[in-house]
This record gives sequence, C-alpha cells and structure tokens, in this order.
Amino acid sequence: MKAFYQINELSREINELRAKGKVIGFVPTMGALHDGHLLLVKNAQQECDVVVVSIFVNPTQFNNAKDLELYPRQEEKDLSLLEKNGCDYVILPSKGEIYPEDYKTITLDLGGLEKVMEGKFRPGHFQGVVNVVSRLFAIVNPDNAYFGRKDFQQLAVIKEMVRQLQIPVRIIGVEIKRDLHGLALSSRNARLNEEELEKSLILVETLQKGKQWAKEKSPQETTKLMLEMFQKSELEVEYIEVVHPDTLETLQGDWVPGATACIAAFCGEVRLIDNMELIPN
Ligand code: AMP
Repeated sequence: MKAFYQINELSREINELRAKGKVIGFVPTMGALHDGHLLLVKNAQQECDVVVVSIFVNPTQFNNAKDLELYPRQEEKDLSLLEKNGCDYVILPSKGEIYPEDYKTITLDLGGLEKVMEGKFRPGHFQGVVNVVSRLFAIVNPDNAYFGRKDFQQLAVIKEMVRQLQIPVRIIGVEIKRDLHGLALSSRNARLNEEELEKSLILVETLQKGKQWAKEKSPQETTKLMLEMFQKSELEVEYIEVVHPDTLETLQGDWVPGATACIAAFCGEVRLIDNMELIPN
C-alpha cells in the first residue's frame, strides 16, 4: 500500500493505472476507521482492480465546531488497518490541498433531499459533503465509489450530485455494519463509554420494533410508536422519520417498497444516526 499526502502524486499514479485499463474503486472516509469502513474497502476490492481510500476530516461538513474538534483521529492505526485490508492507495490530503485559495465552492439545488432529517438539524452539512466528495472525485476519477447505507441521506445526496454534475462514476451503497449487539458502527462510538454504548442500543432496538409494527400498522402509526418507545430511553431524540427511499419524503399514506425508518439522537454529547428498511424493496 502506498500513502500520499500530495494530490498530484496520487493523480499521476492513478492516471497511469487508468491508462493500463485498470478499474479504480474509491472509498472516501474521515478516518478513525472501523469494520464498517473496511466493509466498503472489501466491496471495492472484490469489484475493482485498484482500491483508493481517502482520509480527510472535512471541516465544511461540520456545523458544530466542538464535534469537529472532538472528531477522533488515529492516522497510524488507520494506515495499518488499510494495509491489512486490501487498500492499494491512501490519500491523506491537507485542508489546503482540498480547498486551495482559488477553490470555488459549489452550491447545488438538492431540493427536498437537503431540507429533511439531517438537513434540518445540520444546516449546510450536505453542501459541505457535496463539495468535498466532488473535489475528491475530480482528484481520484474513480470508476466506482463506495458509500455506506448507514448514512442513508448522504447516499441519496451523492447520487443526486453525480446526476446533476454528470460525473461518470458508479455509486455503490453498502449495507450497515453493526457490532455484536446490533449497534451501527460509527467513528463517534469511540467517544462513548461502556454504559453509553449499551444505552445506545435503543436506536437499533427501536428500528427493529418499527419493522415489526410496519407489518400491521400504517407509516404514521409506526412512526408514532417508535417515537414513544424511543422517548422512554435516556437518549435525546432529534428525529424519527419513515421516508420514501428515493425522495426521502415522509410517508403520508401507504407503505412503499424500500420505505426506511431513520433516527438521529444524542447520547450525552455524541450524536448518533441509524436507519433500517422497513418494507423490502
Ligand atoms: P465517515 O468516515 O464517517 O465519513 O464514513 C465514511 C464512509 O463509511 C461513508 O460512506 C459511511 O456511510 C461509511 N460507513 C460509516 N459507518 C458505517 C457502517 N457502520 N457500515 C457501513 N458503512 C459505514
């Protein structure tokens, strides 16, 4: 595995590989890697000739300065994990490399995708994501790019971005990796102690119950029951929504294939998200 800190050097190598007809797979991350990230790498490895991973904690997608400051960073450990798990190239750019002085911020009209759920509670977050991912795509120019379904709304936003900017890349969504107890893996879990990790299981438990309720109840009733269940826990809920898988609009009437429940909540100061498909797609 080769690690790069300079974009130019990576671009040069990738261009050579591309000229030889190699299929390039790309996994963008913010580091503090766990098995969820490594599952994306594994998928890329299975489907591509070359796997490129980026590690960049993107300041423009944080709407909370403290969250950015406390975001876990573990470069050495990350590099060792990537080396052992099939990554060929890793790029660790500086902020100046990603956003040079002449960088022109792009603003996309993401319509409803940006107004709901994460968009409501994290204003500006998705425009930050769009800017960093489009910039990384321009640098790596991948054939395939891998994103976790854990960030369900982000996946929808990236697909819309690629459509609008006509970027020739295949976006692949990868299943959510959970720990033994069902908690969705997240870099932010590193900020939780044992007791908090246990309390946080209420996210997945509520989603699982939601899946059962969905067999008999309407989307509205299911949402209400999930909210009631969650509010009995010690976590502070931001939203629980049952949405259409493509438009992310709250389901008003009947169930649709792929209907998905999404949750965001705070465990102490740590913000957690999770989601689950309630109706098979
Ligand atoms: P992050 O480093 O949090 O920006 O995440 C980088 C990529 O890993 C994103 O596409 C995430 O959706 C994905 N990811 C994060 N957690 C998980 C998980 N538990 N399972 C699968 N993918 C994940």
